[in-house]
Amino acid sequence: MLADILSTGDELRSGAILDHNSAHIAQKLEDAAIEVNRHICVGDDVDGIVSVLTDIGNSSDVAVVTGGLGPTADDVTAFSAARAAGVELILDNAALASMQNFFKARNLPLTPANKKQALLPEGAELLPNPVGTAPGFLLKIGRCRCFFLPGVPSEMRHMLAEEVLPRIEKFQGKTREFSTGKDIVTFGLTESATDEKLAHFTEKYPDIKLGLRVVFPEIHIKLYARSKDKNYLSRTLENAAEWIFQKFGKRVVSSDGSSMEAVVGDILRREKATLAVAESCTGGLISHRLTNIPGSSDYFLFSAVTYSNDAKINLLGVSSSLLDQHGAVHVETAKMMAQGVRQVSGATYGLATTGVAGPGGGTAEKPVGTVCIGVAGPEGSISRRHFFSFENRSMNKQIFATAALDLLRRELLKKSN
Ligand code: ATP
Repeated sequence: MLADILSTGDELRSGAILDHNSAHIAQKLEDAAIEVNRHICVGDDVDGIVSVLTDIGNSSDVAVVTGGLGPTADDVTAFSAARAAGVELILDNAALASMQNFFKARNLPLTPANKKQALLPEGAELLPNPVGTAPGFLLKIGRCRCFFLPGVPSEMRHMLAEEVLPRIEKFQGKTREFSTGKDIVTFGLTESATDEKLAHFTEKYPDIKLGLRVVFPEIHIKLYARSKDKNYLSRTLENAAEWIFQKFGKRVVSSDGSSMEAVVGDILRREKATLAVAESCTGGLISHRLTNIPGSSDYFLFSAVTYSNDAKINLLGVSSSLLDQHGAVHVETAKMMAQGVRQVSGATYGLATTGVAGPGGGTAEKPVGTVCIGVAGPEGSISRRHFFSFENRSMNKQIFATAALDLLRRELLKKSN
């Protein structure tokens, strides 16, 4: 089943507001295994709307149209729909009665302009709108069943769920398909290297749509499949996901879209372990990301932004001779920071970063993009040095933070496996 989405209104056409409605509708239709063919946007213009609706009537099975059902002169959708279907606008008594009730309940007068909203194209089926004044309607134009909904997002969402999707399911009858998807989050390869690794995926799993989305610095591998056979669908998707897990190994962070910090938090909670963080170059970003996760107080104890050498020495107990000998950006410093913050806080694990986020401060030995990460835990301490070639300070901070959480994740997995 093929669908089009049409949003109407000058504010949308001119870019004054963003078309969130169409994105929401597209997601819900795709979830219901309906293929969204096009998103179209037209201003408050009768000829423009009639022309698009006529085209939709020739090419799609269903359409969801939003906006322009209000009481004002620029609300021209019902009139345009009637013209595209070659019918007249007639007063719908049920629509009028429901509006009268709506206004009466709020002690407001029903104006002639509001009455205009009860004029629906002949042959249209009324779609009640219990959360607003503008009723929606369903009208066949050409071969396409077109659902007309108000533009107000809360009203549109309510009616899409209550009135549109159940009807579409009925239209599908025995031809109904199911859809399923997976959002596999990976970290550690570039987008092109990820793409290369997936080179033979489509030959192996031709029924599954594959997409890559960069949520810097993670890469999400999206799998999407549609079929009438629900069991076949879930089997194929599981097999395909397994193929990806084999190819990417520990680079797979999660298979349900969960972020690195959420995954680290889940493992800590499962292990009944706690964490403290000492951050230099990441300036608190790791702690910020960890504490963005609801319930992180279960495992997150303490954080220190130890930016200066003095702070590293006085708060974390990093040795001044070590700093004199190697400097702040060094694997041994990172290790001592992690040990220090673990000791100060009494946490099960200590995690630390020290690096050069740039744009200045780089040297030949420690160029911008260098980060040293330390993890201290019950089994001892480790540290790693990485180099990331981003010129941009905030990108460096993000990738340093993710790399640090990733090192901790891998250490936790070693223990829990
Ligand atoms: P109303 O009777 O409330 O005016 P309507 O069907 O005429 O309903 P519009 O006037 O087109 O709806 O839109 C009402 C408001 O809803 C817009 O001013 C805008 O803020 C929001 N809106 C409309 N369409 C969209 C859209 N596609 N995405 C996001 N917001 C939208």
